[in-house]
Amino acid sequence: MKKIFNFSPGPASLPIEVLKQAQSELLNWNKLNISVMEISHRNKNFVHLIEEIKDDLRELIKIPLNYDILFCQGGARTQFSAIPMNLLYYNQNADYANIGHWSSKAIEEAKKYCIPNIINTVKIKNNLYYIKKMQNWDLDKNSKYLHYCSNETIEGLSVNEEPNFKNKIVIADLSSSILTEEININNYSMIYASAQKNIGPAGLTIIIIKKDLISKNKKKRKELPSVLDYQIISKYNSMFNTPPTFSLYLSGLVLKWLKKIGGVKYISNINRKKAKLLYNTIDRSNIYTNKISKHNRSITNVVFHLPNTNMEKNFLKNSEKNGLYYLKGHSIIGGIRASIYNAMPIEGIKKLINFMNDFEKMYS
Ligand SMILES: *Cc1c(COP(=O)(O)O)cnc(C)c1O
Repeated sequence: MKKIFNFSPGPASLPIEVLKQAQSELLNWNKLNISVMEISHRNKNFVHLIEEIKDDLRELIKIPLNYDILFCQGGARTQFSAIPMNLLYYNQNADYANIGHWSSKAIEEAKKYCIPNIINTVKIKNNLYYIKKMQNWDLDKNSKYLHYCSNETIEGLSVNEEPNFKNKIVIADLSSSILTEEININNYSMIYASAQKNIGPAGLTIIIIKKDLISKNKKKRKELPSVLDYQIISKYNSMFNTPPTFSLYLSGLVLKWLKKIGGVKYISNINRKKAKLLYNTIDRSNIYTNKISKHNRSITNVVFHLPNTNMEKNFLKNSEKNGLYYLKGHSIIGGIRASIYNAMPIEGIKKLINFMNDFEKMYS
């Protein structure tokens, strides 16, 4: 099989070791003589697997015991509705930072349940986009919580700062950055992420939430569906309805892989190195441009443009010939996007940089 490097934004590339392990135990998981997909989620082997995934997440993200870990379905986008439905009683409102595409989608959903206080955080200076410092975000003291997306996957725009608000429930969408960098979970009341960027295959959404945020929630909207109710999900140990068992299993393997290679601190150093190599190449070049201020550049989604769309098409065509796949930028931004999550090895970055340099030479 020809080895390609997969720069897809999500579902994204998975560690090859993990895929090989899944392949080797596909027909016979845990010596049960069947695949993990075929057993009941109530089976003690599977219940044990769920507990191990939680333990590994606790270890990797350093999650204290006053936080619960919930496994949900429906992607991060389902949480755009589930969060206001769970946490806002009728007539309550919330702060929503608008940073980019996913922030704005969360705001669109929130508008069905409240009148969000929208904080426009993105500015332009010297033709570069930047995000206002969090201390200058205009929060409403009457709002129940603040929601924001810490890494805007499509724009490649990242807050790169941890929240530090007094007496504020802070909720962050970490779909494209969870486990790529160390965070202090105590700065958040809740974080959530769909799995298909850094954790495993699509189908699983991970929520890490302060227990008292769930237990204090006495007054609930009557229309809150049981499958989205954090109290119920927690009470049933994320098995109120059938969880996405294969996605959980594979995500569990990815967490073991991450622990084995050195954990979040170790991978974050590599991730920073990877991003730096790419941004340096862009900054040195005469044809590639990145429109984001250095402070807010994403380390997981590197977006850049060429002088015109013809050159971009040519870039994409030729990059594939070199084994570099799925580099096309999102249609709302255009250009090129290299998504370089945990599973992208540094060799992939080096190969991309060599290609970028060669491509530039063809035009000079
Ligand atoms: C991909 C992504 C989403 C959407 O995730 P789904 O699983 O498709 O719902 C939301 N937020 C961010 C930051 C993302 O990167």
